[in-house]
Amino acid sequence: MTKPIKLCNISDYQSFIDKFDTFLLDCDGVLWKGNDVIPGVQESLSYMRKKGKKLLFVTNNSAKSRANYLEKFKKLNIEAYEDEIFGSSYASAYYLKNVLKFPKEKKIYIVGESGIADELALEGIRHCGFSDNMQTFKSDDIVSDPEVGAVICGIDHYVNYTKLAKALHYLKTNSDCIFLVTNDDATYPFKDYIAPGAGSIAASIIKALGREPDGIMGKPNKPMMDCIAQKFKLNNERTCMIGDRLETDVQFGINGGISTLAVLTGITAEKDFIVNDAPIVPDYYMSSFGDFSKLF
Ligand code: PLP
Ligand code: CA
Repeated sequence: MTKPIKLCNISDYQSFIDKFDTFLLDCDGVLWKGNDVIPGVQESLSYMRKKGKKLLFVTNNSAKSRANYLEKFKKLNIEAYEDEIFGSSYASAYYLKNVLKFPKEKKIYIVGESGIADELALEGIRHCGFSDNMQTFKSDDIVSDPEVGAVICGIDHYVNYTKLAKALHYLKTNSDCIFLVTNDDATYPFKDYIAPGAGSIAASIIKALGREPDGIMGKPNKPMMDCIAQKFKLNNERTCMIGDRLETDVQFGINGGISTLAVLTGITAEKDFIVNDAPIVPDYYMSSFGDFSKLF
């Protein structure tokens, strides 16, 4: 396996940026950590914009819609536009509408949060399940809505037994019911600890159902890349994924046939991919995305 190229100085940064027209950027661990912007990030992005590069912010977090995510960028004073944001909630709505051609007369049952509901509504897809937040379980509640044609599961900080039971019921009683998962992250970083991610919530439905979902949208899986490629007409040769996590971001780039750059400001350390038998190796790596600000 070829070793990754380390970007160390201004001339490396320059020739790297010149190689690509489009950058897909992971957010947490690349642009910010929690609520703290990584130093130099605003200037690095400004430099790329000045050079006419297309920027897309790709996140697995399904809790937020693109509009919600934009508020986070604004709060952190990072320039971004709604149509540059591609979250797993929007990817799911895009996929249902444009790839699966989900019928207008059907509905989606959501185990998830407002990000999914808002993005589905914007694509004209009807949904339910939301009002099941904070319910106490009553077996009488598990009645079928005949209009439900798909179940979608994402991160849900209000997940409860009723929601899981309803989701399972729809999938068990209707073999045509589509089962989508926004992203299969087992965990995600939450302040000073790690918390169960969407994949861990979906796992309880998968276990009860006894089969895998029909689609898992988020990084490292192909559906989100297919949606991005379809919407933005990517030239793979001139596109690079930048991320801090090997199993999600770098693998996403590899699966999508584009180049990859790992940064060391998040989850991954150099030792994770520099060893001979490393399973996932980026094409390039650098200390911090903020170091591109030295070109500014
Ligand atoms: N899932 C949830 C619920 C999150 O809050 C986050 C990060 O904040 C992630 C997944 C990972 O997101 P990203 O792809 O931006 O690293
Ligand atoms: Ca990340």
